[in-house]
This record gives sequence, C-alpha cells and structure tokens, in this order.
Amino acid sequence: MFRLVLLVALAAPAFAQHFPTDDPVIREMWAEGMDRSQTEAMAHVLTDVIGPRLAGSQGLENAQDWLLETYAGWGVDARREEYGTWNRWEAGALHVEMTAPRVQSLVAEMLAWTPGTDGPVEGPVVAPPADLTPETAQAWLAGLEGAFVLTSPPEPMCRAMQELEANARPETIERLEAQRASLRADWRQRLSALGRDVAGVLEDAGVAGTLSSRWSGGWGANKVFSTGNERAVGLDVSCEDYGMLARLAESENAPRVRVNAQAEDGGVVPQFNVVAEMRGTELPDEYILLSAHLDSWHAATGATDNATGTIVMLEAMRILKETYPNPRRTILAGHWGAEEVGLIGSGAFREDHPEVVAGLQVGFNQDNGTWRFERIEGQGFLDTAEHLPVWMAAVPTEVQAQVVVEVPGEQNNRGSDHTSFTCAEAPVLRLQSPYDEYRQYTWHTNLDTYDKIVFDDLRQNATLAAMLVYGASEDPERMTRETANLPVNPRTGEPREFGPCREPRRTAPN
Ligand SMILES: [Zn+2]
Repeated sequence: MFRLVLLVALAAPAFAQHFPTDDPVIREMWAEGMDRSQTEAMAHVLTDVIGPRLAGSQGLENAQDWLLETYAGWGVDARREEYGTWNRWEAGALHVEMTAPRVQSLVAEMLAWTPGTDGPVEGPVVAPPADLTPETAQAWLAGLEGAFVLTSPPEPMCRAMQELEANARPETIERLEAQRASLRADWRQRLSALGRDVAGVLEDAGVAGTLSSRWSGGWGANKVFSTGNERAVGLDVSCEDYGMLARLAESENAPRVRVNAQAEDGGVVPQFNVVAEMRGTELPDEYILLSAHLDSWHAATGATDNATGTIVMLEAMRILKETYPNPRRTILAGHWGAEEVGLIGSGAFREDHPEVVAGLQVGFNQDNGTWRFERIEGQGFLDTAEHLPVWMAAVPTEVQAQVVVEVPGEQNNRGSDHTSFTCAEAPVLRLQSPYDEYRQYTWHTNLDTYDKIVFDDLRQNATLAAMLVYGASEDPERMTRETANLPVNPRTGEPREFGPCREPRRTAPN
C-alpha cells in the first residue's frame, strides 16, 4: 500500500511553480529547462562514454570535441582556445592482487602520471620500520630492491565518522581518535628518516612501487591525486586493503602483491579551453560569463567535479539559445581546462582576454556537485546587493525560497575558477550547493560517478543559471566593481586585498 502511495506521489508534477511576473522569457526558460531538459543525456555522454578528463588526457580532448559538436548542433558559436601545454598520461588497465600470505584481489587506483609496470611485477610489501632513523635508513634501503613500500599511515578504522557518532560509545570514539593521531605521528616519524624526497630515495633504492592510501572519511571513498614517482609505479590502495597490508607487514606475515599497471607517457601536448558565445545585440562589449571547469581527476568519471557544473552551463546555453537568442549583452560559456592542477585554463583566459575582464557585467561559476543551489555568493562585490536581488525576483518564488543570496558577501579566494577573475576585481560569483557530503564522498574520489547526480536539482540549477544570465544581460545598469573590505589579516592588522592574480602555469612542471 505504502509503495503504491509513493508511486502516485512520484508521478504527480514534482515542481509546482509560481511566477512572480508575467515575463514570457522566464516562463519559456522554465518550460525548456524543466520539461525538455537534456541534462541526463549530457551526463551520460560526458561521464559514461567519455569518462575521466584529466589535464593533458585524450579524455579531456574528447570532451572538448563533444562540446564543440554539441554547440554546433544548436547553432551556438564555440571555439577551442589554445593556452599552453601539459603532459599526456594514458592509463590503461590496473590489476592488483595480494599473492601471500593468501590470494586476494585488491582495490587500488593508479596515481595520476605514474609510470606503469611494463607487465606484471610481483614483490614483497614492506612498511618502514618503527625504529627507522636517518642512521639506519641506508641499511634498510639496501634491502628494498623489487619491493612495494607503504608510504602513508594506515587508518585504524574505515567507517564514516557520522556512523560512529550514531552508534559507538563516546570512549570508543575517543580511543579511535587517539589511535589515529598516534599512527599519523608515528608514520611521519618513520618517513622523516628518509629525508624530504621520500619517492626519490625509494626509487634510487630500486623499489618496484609505492603504495599509499588517502581515505576520504566515508565508506569506500579514497581521494586519488597524482604521484611524484618517476620510475616506480605509485598506487593508491583502498582504506580496507591498505590497512590489511600494513597489519600483515607489521605482524611479519610477509605479504606480497602482484601489480600490472598499464600507463603510457604520451609526451607534451597542447591544451585548450572551449569558449561558447552568443553575441550581444546592444552591448556586445559587455559580457555575462558562465564558468565551470571541464577537466577532472581520473579515478572515477568526474561526475560531480565537475560534469555537473559543465552541464549546468551547457544546458543553460541551450535554454538561452532557445528562449533568448538575441541577448542584449554578450553571453560566454567558459569550459576551462586544467582547473584541478592549478586553475590554469581560467587564469590563462583572464590573461588572454583583457577585453572580457574589462567588460564583464558578471559571471557565475559552479564547481561543487549536484544538489540544488543553496547559496549565491556575491564575493564581496558591493553592487551585487543592488542587482542580484532584482535578477532573482523574476525567478519562480519556490526557487527563490531555496536560495540564499549572500550579498555583498565575502571574497572566498580559494577553491575554484571564480578566483581567476575576482583577483582582477571582475565579479564572478559562486553558485554553491551543499558541501559536506560532496567533500566526504565524491570530491576527487573513486566514487564520483553518474549515479551520484541528482537530476531534479541539476535541471533546476541549469534553468536558474539561464534566468540569472537573462537578468544580468537585460539589466539597464552595469554593475560597479567596488568591493567590500576583506577581513583583517591577523599578521598585518590590515584588511586583506583582492588579488594579486597568480600567473597561470601554462606548462607542466617536468
Ligand atoms: Zn572542481
């Protein structure tokens, strides 16, 4: 009976809406975005078909080709803009198994830009000894030829903390926290015996590989970044399997692993942003910018970081083209390359397009997942307090009620591509979804996949983005660039300042 009721409820229109004005463009935008959404099809192609989009990879290039084709299909001008180069790394299959003291397949990921193994390689798993010192390090290193060395502290438990808080005794949590702190301190101590360049020292000793684990704090989730290894394979191992290997190594049960990691260094390749444009009819030199990075980390398919942001901007452009094809100001969508390795694509665009920075009315960046926008951050631009509420006043009242407009707000000078513009006092605001669960489970993890996307929210986010662009484009006034004082820097006693902008690194470090 309950199930039936639920089905009926789901079949009912999910989005009652009340339009505060009779603006026909807003009504058409709602119908286009909510009833004829293309977000599911877009997400499938971008995450399942194209897959991860690491800076320099073929996947990123394929995603750029797909964007250009998609825009062309809608009759929207779009172009590839070259801004630099990066190292191509093509990861093939990875197989990792424990071969002693028993056989078990292990869950692991290659760290980005790691060398491969050139076929299967088997060797002992070794933990740095608890009593390792700079004096004993040489003797220990001499026995590591062909070994896989553990280079990060194991976790005492791989359960999410909120579950412990719900079920565990307070003293259990305390004990666990103490154990975690002591393991971290202990391993820091052990590894410090090897000096500053741990990877280099281990590679000089002839190790077959390094194993580490960067647990994300939630069930089954690890953060997977890059390695500095140049000769030996660098792997991230799941919290569970890494803990097991560490316990077996410490209890002298002589664990061994076999690793087959296929990875190719593809050399230095050119890098691009994709920029789409709908030219303004009255004020073509004033710009509204939709901003989201297209690149991702590689251990999953970059669904919430940042296929969702990409799709918000892409779908907003589709809605705009359908409902507002002759905008007053010029509308741009920036699909940036290489955000994950240093906000590079957006920083290069700022440097290469002073006319856009000078003529920017406003921009909107999204880079944190899939829940509906709960906050629009004015980033400290005083005039957002005048303009943003006016743009928001036209959107359906139910949507207004869900979003806090933080104006003028404070500059948040970390984390994503908006800072490539706010540093130059060009107002690019953040469209923010709830953060905590994103941070714990999908941000840069092996779990950032299509199934995490909440399409009801994604549809609404894209529709709202289109409506904000419309409001900003039609606004009779240009926003000023006056900024609120930033918070006081405790070191100097003076308010912090906007900028200076950091020069983007246009080539890979090696
Ligand atoms: Zn991101």
